[in-house]
Amino acid sequence: DITKPPEVEAARLLLPIVAEEQPIMEAILLNSVVVICGETGSGKTTQVPQFLYEAGFGLPGSDNPGIIGVTQPRRVAAMSMASRVAQELSLTSSKISYQIRYDATVSSNTSIKFMTDGVLLRELATDFLLTKYSVIIIDEAHERSMNTDILIGVLSRVVKLREELWSQKKDDAKPLRLIIMSATLRVSDFAENVALFPSPPPVINVPARQHPVTVHFNRRTTSDYVSEAIRKASKIHARLPPGGILIFLTGQNEISGTCKKLEAKYGLKALEERKRRRNAAAARTQSAEEDSRGRVNVAPAQADVEAEDMDLGGDQMDLALDVDGDNADFDDEALDSDDDLNDQELGIDTEESDAPMHIVPLYALLPSEKQMLVFKPPPPGARLVVVSTNVAETSLTIPGVRYVIDCGRAKERHYDVVNGIQTFKVSWISKASAAQRAGRAGRTGPGHCYRLYSSALFETYFEQFSQPEILRMPIEGVVLQMKSMHIDAVTNFPFPTPPDRLSLRKAEVILTHLGALTSSEPGTPMAMEEIHKLRAQLSSIVQTNFPDSDAGLVANLRPPTALQMKVLRQLLAAGFIDQVAVRKDKVSQDALSGQQFTTARGVPYRALGIDEDVFIHPSSVLANKPPPDFVVYLEVVRTSKVWIKGLTVVNAA
Ligand code: ADP
Ligand code: MG
Repeated sequence: DITKPPEVEAARLLLPIVAEEQPIMEAILLNSVVVICGETGSGKTTQVPQFLYEAGFGLPGSDNPGIIGVTQPRRVAAMSMASRVAQELSLTSSKISYQIRYDATVSSNTSIKFMTDGVLLRELATDFLLTKYSVIIIDEAHERSMNTDILIGVLSRVVKLREELWSQKKDDAKPLRLIIMSATLRVSDFAENVALFPSPPPVINVPARQHPVTVHFNRRTTSDYVSEAIRKASKIHARLPPGGILIFLTGQNEISGTCKKLEAKYGLKALEERKRRRNAAAARTQSAEEDSRGRVNVAPAQADVEAEDMDLGGDQMDLALDVDGDNADFDDEALDSDDDLNDQELGIDTEESDAPMHIVPLYALLPSEKQMLVFKPPPPGARLVVVSTNVAETSLTIPGVRYVIDCGRAKERHYDVVNGIQTFKVSWISKASAAQRAGRAGRTGPGHCYRLYSSALFETYFEQFSQPEILRMPIEGVVLQMKSMHIDAVTNFPFPTPPDRLSLRKAEVILTHLGALTSSEPGTPMAMEEIHKLRAQLSSIVQTNFPDSDAGLVANLRPPTALQMKVLRQLLAAGFIDQVAVRKDKVSQDALSGQQFTTARGVPYRALGIDEDVFIHPSSVLANKPPPDFVVYLEVVRTSKVWIKGLTVVNAA
């Protein structure tokens, strides 16, 4: 029997999904595939695996002894959900486990396993029938990641195969059940897709228990949304009633920068320091008053703080985006919706507050124990401020959030058809995502969502829904990935949203011509063979022209000697003479000259034909090392600064 801690039981009863346990379990027992829709925070991820466990799934000796598998698009969610469910069931991490690419708590004892979708895809490559499992839950299906879509397609077939084996009573076979969970009602691609599921699976809607959220648009869209987010958070903190603030930004750098700035102003330490200074000033003022009555006194510490505060506001940062239709006149709704936190109210002490902020960052690459801090209640009297990527959009529900600040952007995978390179780019989110983000403010009580963009921009440039990732990917990449998972019939594959069949076939042909599909060793990213051939060819050219040179070149190539390195650098510098950048302090005798830099971040370089300073792109391995004097670059990227990428150091040794 399962005993739950009393506080867990109490919290659990408040979750809308708990009232639906019976219809959900009935549907699961009567159908091999079930779709469950429920608003974020309704309890899908933490409760449905428990319903199954309590019904005997995952228990050796029961009708459904196989593991309960739950996939998550993000590692954060896989880890935190495993630990939450273990805690709710008072069980250990070897029983309720997680597995992500480089880390796992799974054991032979595991009953519920949370994993990233990539982990399950790899398991499918070695055990297509997923014999270890009795049920697979595909969570966050509404996100439509490529992995999720492919998993659903594959699992539709695995479920059928397991059913056939079971009805033939083969090898103790037991059926496999599939549960697809979504935070939105838009599930027709799964539920009404006869290629995927010939008989449509039942869809269970968990009624939302959502409080109203007032949405405020900015009058204008600023490109410096990070400063704007900080400003908005400061205002909310100073003026609005208690309640957590959740800020949506796009990536790690923005998030840590924002946390640092907020910490410096509203962190517990900063506030204590401010109080100390203020008290000292008050004491000084008092003695000055006693000394010389009749003089006008100004509290110096107060003035300092005010000046600091003004940095956060400031229209000077309010660079309007150059987007048609995005102008204030057009945007009549914003005139009153932006009202209660308006610029003109930016009085001298607007952002003064004696209450501290408890500031927590949240992004996928953050160590897990740091991520778990979002679930910890803030210290008494402090306001929780979570600065997050879209991890907090649906994957994690943070308790106590009443205010959401939404920058309207997200980092998404993009494919550049010109250079064939996949990159992560910041782009506008969809209207559906914006609604999800706003919804985060209405879990505990009525809330507010501040959108750092205009309603005109929202109406004009935001798609209704974001496109499934599979349609945003190079089709050759999709085909290659599927082939590496031993999915051969790519053109007939039951995709939830199929890419164009003709382009799928073309991609297969191209990949076959390239020899990418014929390698007996899947994955051996052929390329190595090409490199070998090229090397043999080059060395034979060298030998023909310089018969005296080292004949052992082909057999075993050693790392280049210092002299060879020097020659290679000279070759590169000569070959790319128009793509050399020189550290600025080495060419101009300005203030920087002679300065020691510990990393290349922020260190200006000069490049031929580029009038502005250029900088080493933060993604470069060179960014965190002392800056070299000379580099050759392959690419220039222009954002707020001019960045150089694809770098080779060509310093004189
Ligand atoms: P859904 O999957 O429907 O979005 P969840 O099952 O993730 O909902 O969350 C249900 C509730 O459990 C939420 O109110 C959330 O705040 C709470 N919760 C989830 N994980 C934790 C945790 N690690 N600590 C505290 N509360 C949590
Ligand atoms: Mg969930």
